[in-house]
Amino acid sequence: MRSGYSFEVHARDAHARVATLTTPNGSVETPTFMPVGTVGTVKGLSMEEVAVTGAGVVLANTYHLWLRPGPEVVRNLGGLHKFTRWPGIMLTDSGGFQVFSLAKLRTIDDEGVTFRSHLDGTMLRLTPEESMRIQSLLGADIAMAFDECPPGDAARPEVERAMARTTAWAARCLAAPRDPNQALFGIVQGGVHTDLRLQHLETLREMPFDGFALGGLSVGEPWQEMHRVLDAVAHKMPENVPRYLMGVGTPRDLIAGSLAGIDMFDCVLPTRNARNGQALTWNGRANMKQLRNRDDKGPIDPECDGPCCTSGYSRGYLRHLFMAGEMLFGRVVTQHNLYFFGRLMARLRQAIRDGNARSWADSVLDRMNENDEVGPADED
Ligand SMILES: [Zn+2]
Repeated sequence: MRSGYSFEVHARDAHARVATLTTPNGSVETPTFMPVGTVGTVKGLSMEEVAVTGAGVVLANTYHLWLRPGPEVVRNLGGLHKFTRWPGIMLTDSGGFQVFSLAKLRTIDDEGVTFRSHLDGTMLRLTPEESMRIQSLLGADIAMAFDECPPGDAARPEVERAMARTTAWAARCLAAPRDPNQALFGIVQGGVHTDLRLQHLETLREMPFDGFALGGLSVGEPWQEMHRVLDAVAHKMPENVPRYLMGVGTPRDLIAGSLAGIDMFDCVLPTRNARNGQALTWNGRANMKQLRNRDDKGPIDPECDGPCCTSGYSRGYLRHLFMAGEMLFGRVVTQHNLYFFGRLMARLRQAIRDGNARSWADSVLDRMNENDEVGPADED
């Protein structure tokens, strides 16, 4: 890895590993979950509150910051760390995923993507070089290569075309002018086709990336398909650099990914679901809107030792806040969900160190499944 960065594996249990990722802005133990700060804020929380949850890395979305306020504005205000006041590690995505999922009227060619801004309809063009330029200005510790992410139901020929384009774009990202102090991760595509995934991995691993990610998973395919790909591919990714599973996921997916050999995860699930009324606990999911919570004096999760659950917020009060549309609800439950994810990853790291990650995972997942309070009608 480049100067100022290191990745040191301390413990292994089958394919799972515990490591320390060090960057110029601090260190984090992996496997780790990275909260998503879409426009430069983890919605509803101060960065001090995010730090309390045990998060070591915050992700920001290049697409959103590019459109508003613009990367030059962020740079003038001191770069992403100073701009957001996050003292730890930061990662930016390439902008590609949002272009593919949010923008209107996009056209993809071998050079890049042309699309209309979802904010004001302006025509914009994103290329590998432009993504590197924007990410360099934003100044996160880790930048991501610009890739093409086909939808989860894409046919095999479409997945193969996206792979070829992603390879060409990866080389252009490496060749483009960019911040020499920023680490750059390459992204492996290939959909749910294990052979394509391994083929793309063999191509990308020859390129001098500082880490490797699996993109294009959790984009509509059944979770069992994703787990099958993870089990076949993750442990074959380069050993001595971080492995990042993008846009994933649920506690079940974080555990399966870590057991398969993944080190880093990000997802809007804990923060978005919190705002919609769903808390994640050691007893599965809880729907805070349900009438059963109205007279409940207890905390969201009696096993949670975070400020969300030890400072006196009752389920009854939180349900009242939700029903009244009060913003404090989203703040407290977001804190809880991120704190839970932080503790889940800490316990998982301990289980890997202890060499019993698989049995720990089975008992944790059984308990979550047995006690889950969210019915099929309330599924995500
Ligand atoms: Zn809590």
